[in-house]
Amino acid sequence: MNTNRIFNFSAGPSMLPLPVLEKAAAELLNYNGSGMSVMEMSHRSKYFEEIINSAEALFRKVLNIPDNYRVLFLQGGASTQFAMVPLNLLSSAEGTADYIVSGNFAKKAYEEAQKFSPNIRLAASTKAENFVRVPNQDELQLSAEADYVHMCFNNTIFGTKFPYIPETGNVPLVADMSSCILSEPVDVSRFGLIYAGAQKNVAPAGVTIVIVRDDLLKEPLPGTPTMLTYKTHAENDSMYNTPPCYPIYICKLVLEWIESIGGLEALAERNRQKAAKLYDYLDNSQLFKPVAQKESRSIMNVTFRTDDPELDAKFAKESAAAGLSNLKGHRSVGGMRASIYNAMPEEGVEALLKFMAEFEKNN
Ligand SMILES: *Cc1c(COP(=O)(O)O)cnc(C)c1O
Repeated sequence: MNTNRIFNFSAGPSMLPLPVLEKAAAELLNYNGSGMSVMEMSHRSKYFEEIINSAEALFRKVLNIPDNYRVLFLQGGASTQFAMVPLNLLSSAEGTADYIVSGNFAKKAYEEAQKFSPNIRLAASTKAENFVRVPNQDELQLSAEADYVHMCFNNTIFGTKFPYIPETGNVPLVADMSSCILSEPVDVSRFGLIYAGAQKNVAPAGVTIVIVRDDLLKEPLPGTPTMLTYKTHAENDSMYNTPPCYPIYICKLVLEWIESIGGLEALAERNRQKAAKLYDYLDNSQLFKPVAQKESRSIMNVTFRTDDPELDAKFAKESAAAGLSNLKGHRSVGGMRASIYNAMPEEGVEALLKFMAEFEKNN
């Protein structure tokens, strides 16, 4: 089928797997004999109950989530988690938490937490190097007294990723995985809480995934709104109020697609190959330079540039005209960024490489 679809390298919302969109289209008008679309049905109907239950079961299976963790489908995006984490995990309004600042979103989370306690500490920052790498374990200044440690696992804007899971002793580790969740297997048991906005690798915008260990479902700080309390959502199986039904449905289809292609191991292998091709080209190019330092390279967001901002602008413009969209880098970094999430096919990366080689030859 010629769908006239382009290769969309957007950082998010981003491409969804074509088989997922086709299935959603086929089921759009009449879902499973219900006579209506998933967008129109009650969230208390047996149809939707089956959808949300399958989505959760598949999430557990695909990501190998231990039984003592809850999977929550929330709203408000990853940005709302910047507040929910301190509201629910700080032991008091004077509680301490350690924040690892490795990029823009990590910094936002750090700043938001400061609204809820004067004792939010900066455990490490690579801002002085414009975030071209993530901090090493031995650079982290962690307190054994902290209520939690917060990190951003994959830094979407700078194209960096932690090559290791920080060791935090008995202090729960909280990770923003918005731009890397479901990109490769991860040992969930090393984390107290993982959260992710869905619009990069999981579903359309509108649902936020929270994976939280049982013992962290405690009383929040006094005054915390009901809707911002993890316990509310855990006790009501993410149905305290109307959940984002359609994104949860697409999430289920995406997880089925991941299973159909061999699960997270197979997907990770694909993702690593796609990224390796791009980095290999960048490491050998005379014109383009990779932005992130080697040990910190993301396999989801590949940042690069030339030494000439005008040439970068020309690249963004000409690549878009060639059907390779959204390659312009974030305004805080400049240059280019190719977001190659799960749904970006290998052919998309091949097309980008071909375009880059031609551009290099002509400029
Ligand atoms: C996109 C992104 C966010 C922001 O997510 P929203 O859902 O728009 O709030 C936060 N953190 C990371 C790592 C992201 O990539």
